[in-house]
Amino acid sequence: MINLENIIRVYHVKFDTSQSLFMGLLSDRQQQLLDWLHTRRLVSITEIQEHFSVSSATAYRDARVLIQAGFAIKASEGLKLPLPPGRLRQEGQCFYCGGMTNERTVFQIQFEDGSQGNACCSHCGLLAVDRPDVASALASDFLYGRMVNVRQAAFLVGSRVNLCCDPSVLCFANEVDAASFQSGFGGQVCSLEQAIVQLQALMRLKASGGG
Ligand SMILES: [Zn+2]
Ligand SMILES: [Zn+2]
Repeated sequence: MINLENIIRVYHVKFDTSQSLFMGLLSDRQQQLLDWLHTRRLVSITEIQEHFSVSSATAYRDARVLIQAGFAIKASEGLKLPLPPGRLRQEGQCFYCGGMTNERTVFQIQFEDGSQGNACCSHCGLLAVDRPDVASALASDFLYGRMVNVRQAAFLVGSRVNLCCDPSVLCFANEVDAASFQSGFGGQVCSLEQAIVQLQALMRLKASGGG
């Protein structure tokens, strides 16, 4: 039977969960456990046993499948969610795209569980920042390199200055600086909320072959 547990056992592989293809290979109970984990963020083996009325051996096995597949990470007495979007990255790597982070453009997200994810630039940061488990975020001001609260920052989306991901998103401490930059290099000056919408619109345009 083809299911995730057998694939892991046979091939000893660890999947990249960005390939949501593997989602379909979880058993119904493993899928329910994953859904439950997403609402709880932390689930113990005892809770899994009680919730699904299964033995501790079965609870451990389901937990192990989710851990080995990269959907969850091991907690002291059970499972917890990995860093969004479901994969752990090495130091110096963008948690969103896997590219290298650098101080000039870094976008730092603090999650409600106390963990932190560094994105390579505001492009990746904006794609992750409206998740419900984000507590706060800071980004490097493109001109002066100071970390600024993204809710008070201004973003220049789609300018010709592209140091990292495309379409380019640059962060500035205030609108005046962003507008000065815009007059030379184009793009659109946006608040955080506007920037998320604008970036997604540009990406759709790009995906459809326009722009
Ligand atoms: Zn990135
Ligand atoms: Zn980037």
